[in-house]
Amino acid sequence: MNSSTSPCVFCSIATLEDRIVYSDALLYVLVPSHPVTSGHLLVIPVAHRYTFIDINLDELRQMQTIIAHVLARSKNQGVIGYNLLSNNGGALVDQHVAHFHQHCFLRDRNEGSPFEKLQNGHNITSSSSFNMTEHCQTLKRRFN
Ligand SMILES: [Zn+2]
Repeated sequence: MNSSTSPCVFCSIATLEDRIVYSDALLYVLVPSHPVTSGHLLVIPVAHRYTFIDINLDELRQMQTIIAHVLARSKNQGVIGYNLLSNNGGALVDQHVAHFHQHCFLRDRNEGSPFEKLQNGHNITSSSSFNMTEHCQTLKRRFN
């Protein structure tokens, strides 16, 4: 994908609104279209940044603050830890959107490893009981 001529999906915030569970001037948090686990979130700078080293210190600090906040609000929901993952440098290193996005997996004791699920192509939307609107509302409450 040529990011200079194609519209950037993560710059098109209005089209993602239904899945945005938090936003401020610097960052927003998006539920991916195919979350691997129930606690799978994407923390994304509002400004177009290509990779981790392109985000500024204010964005980095705010990313820590947001993750700390949602983690604190998730402890009583059974979350025992978290994993962070970002792919930086284009499709050859699995960065499929040329706008930095930090995957955050809030880890539930009973749900298993998101990395195993990623390898197996698993996502929670394949469950017949999954409802994206309800899922996003549940996560949104953890940011209030
Ligand atoms: Zn962008």
